[in-house]
Amino acid sequence: MNQLSDRINNLSTSQTLAMAAKARELRAEGKDIIGLSLGEPDFNTPDFVKEAAIQAINDNYNSYTPVDGYVDLKEAIIGKFKRDNNLTYTLPQIVVSTGAKQSLANLAMVMINPGDEVILPCPYWVSYSDIVQLAEGVPVEVKTSITTDFKMTADQLEAAITPKTKMLWFSSPCNPSGSVYSKKELRALADVLQKHSHIYVVSDEIYEHINFSGASHASMAQFDDMYNRTITVNGVSKAFAMTGWRIGFIGAPDWIARACNKMQGQVTSGANCIAQRAVITAMEANPSKVQYMVNEFKVRRDLVLNLLEDMVGFKTNKPEGAFYVFPDISSYFGKTLRGRTIHNATDFSMYLLEEALVATVTGDAFGNPNCIRISYAASQEQLIEALKRIKEALN
Ligand code: PMP
Repeated sequence: MNQLSDRINNLSTSQTLAMAAKARELRAEGKDIIGLSLGEPDFNTPDFVKEAAIQAINDNYNSYTPVDGYVDLKEAIIGKFKRDNNLTYTLPQIVVSTGAKQSLANLAMVMINPGDEVILPCPYWVSYSDIVQLAEGVPVEVKTSITTDFKMTADQLEAAITPKTKMLWFSSPCNPSGSVYSKKELRALADVLQKHSHIYVVSDEIYEHINFSGASHASMAQFDDMYNRTITVNGVSKAFAMTGWRIGFIGAPDWIARACNKMQGQVTSGANCIAQRAVITAMEANPSKVQYMVNEFKVRRDLVLNLLEDMVGFKTNKPEGAFYVFPDISSYFGKTLRGRTIHNATDFSMYLLEEALVATVTGDAFGNPNCIRISYAASQEQLIEALKRIKEALN
């Protein structure tokens, strides 16, 4: 008999993590798998950040931290928001968490009542839908396609709004499509939201610095009329190659930040002390210090787009940020390859894993069943080899 709660039984396993586990299994069997499934930079954490962590250990930072983060870290985050985003926040508006994932989970728990609708432009980051459902909210998917560069239009937003809509969650640059909303595009969405004052926005900007568009990053909270109902989510996992350090944060209206602080105080308490000390250094650093990683991601993006151009049946947008391409591979549906019929993107991704020994993620995980996600957080040699293998397996 299943004694587990409906809550966990109804929760899906993160498909990006599931694919990584499957790839690990095949590797353990001796197969040479190229992993392009994880959203994790393949760089080391910069030395200046590592040194700050070592210093913190030697300085005996070992006690519980304030639930919402060290004051001097929150001050450094306030400085970052001002410097990079021209956003003004005060100490009570900042909450530091164990990764942006916890920031999002806090927000769902403090903002969503059962039955509240949360608009998710598709494709969305894999965990949004399940985090919303954990809070008994109802995800409302807004389908987009390559024709709009996978961005939601103002008309689509308007059409998705009901009296039950509580929030809109989106990421820009977007995981998985790499799309970046311009200031003008955000303004068009904000104009719709102006007519519906009951809707709050989660603006997930964790890929902010990994932006190749040349335009400066645009934040929803930069609009005066949206500032009081936007929660800006960010973190160090991506730009600073610090996924395992687990630090994320929000800038939010103070009543929302206070609620997140209260929630976190009962669930996990403050984030890791050493990681917080190190992140002070990261926040105070000029983003140009990590530009070398961004430059390399851009070279790889161009490399992957070039190689994909040569492949039959891959349609892709030009991602302007993050480190993913999200090709539409639906032309393979119904085809039989090496005796296996490809019914959907999950079959396709599994076929690539088993026949090309390349791990990708099915678009189903992101609310788009026609695509797969390929992460280019891998070396150029690995990317060239992976795409060669994919091409051969599809021939
Ligand atoms: N938002 C997006 C869009 C992400 O891609 C990720 C990480 N894959 C997160 C949030 C969570 O990041 P963190 O490591 O800070 O929990």
